[in-house]
Amino acid sequence: RQAQYLALRDEPSETRDGTPVKLMMNGGLLVDLPYVAETGAAGIGLFRTELQFMVAPSLPRAGEQEALYSAVLDAAGDKPVVFRTLDVGGDKVLPYMRTIDEENPALGWRAIRFGLDRPGLLRSQVRAMARAAAGRELRLMFPMISAVHEYDDAKDIVEKELTHLRKWGHQLPERMLLGAMVEVPSLLFELEELLSKVDFISIGSNDLIQFMYAADRGNSRVADRFDPLGTSMLRVFKTVADAAIKADKPVTVCGELASRPTGALALVGLGYRALSVSSSSIGALKAMLRQSTLAEIEETVAAMMEGSKPARARLAEMAKAADQN
Ligand code: PEP
Ligand code: MG
Repeated sequence: RQAQYLALRDEPSETRDGTPVKLMMNGGLLVDLPYVAETGAAGIGLFRTELQFMVAPSLPRAGEQEALYSAVLDAAGDKPVVFRTLDVGGDKVLPYMRTIDEENPALGWRAIRFGLDRPGLLRSQVRAMARAAAGRELRLMFPMISAVHEYDDAKDIVEKELTHLRKWGHQLPERMLLGAMVEVPSLLFELEELLSKVDFISIGSNDLIQFMYAADRGNSRVADRFDPLGTSMLRVFKTVADAAIKADKPVTVCGELASRPTGALALVGLGYRALSVSSSSIGALKAMLRQSTLAEIEETVAAMMEGSKPARARLAEMAKAADQN
């Protein structure tokens, strides 16, 4: 099977009738980088920068951060890379940092909330990224944005840092794209405003599903209780795709749902044309997409949105193509 996927590596990622679907990969550490070339990924759609911080015995120095980001950009070559700023707090604990006791860490002082309150850390990260991307393109996105004003504040911090670097004579990235993760439900009701400001958005389906169903993603008693492709979730995914298409802003899904064959199919059926998935699933997803027509996928997903159980079963059948290759 691996050999078959390898043979597909340089084949276009598209449906049987030729609709392109960009398959990018998620990463976070040096060990992930060879997979960009190995899988033929269209880029790195989510680089989880917190992983470097989580495996380190102490806060990674500026130089260490910059070295990693440089290596990532080198490995990706001409392909795009989306760096996500530090997403710590909640279940992602940095052993060397003092933590506060929180009753509901997933709803607590984490990700961009922490970044905005401790801008020093965010700024040092932006500085390391900007230096690594000097003369190149830098794509940066913020995790756990819950309201548009948080995006504005985070953007201000980035711009301040760039101004600072410019003042000191550093070469800046040639082009800068800023985006927000859509993973907190409140943002679903501010999509239009958000989309008028960002360069792109990416759905974090792990958190979005957790918060939509109020079911802890790490608690097996409840995590699998609700269908990630249930009617309400499908409608949410469609709402976001429609809004992004209308605003003419790129949208991807980078949560684990996109890595699953049924999830990827459903998302394509809802209008998504770019997914960021685990490197190990790229081959299987590509093989699967190449076996279905867009019309088939769309029709099935449209019926699923109306609650059709046979359509849900049909999608599962279509997804089996990913296993049988
Ligand atoms: C997500 O929430 O879906 C996501 C991509 O981010 P993480 O899993 O790192 O929270
Ligand atoms: Mg998340």
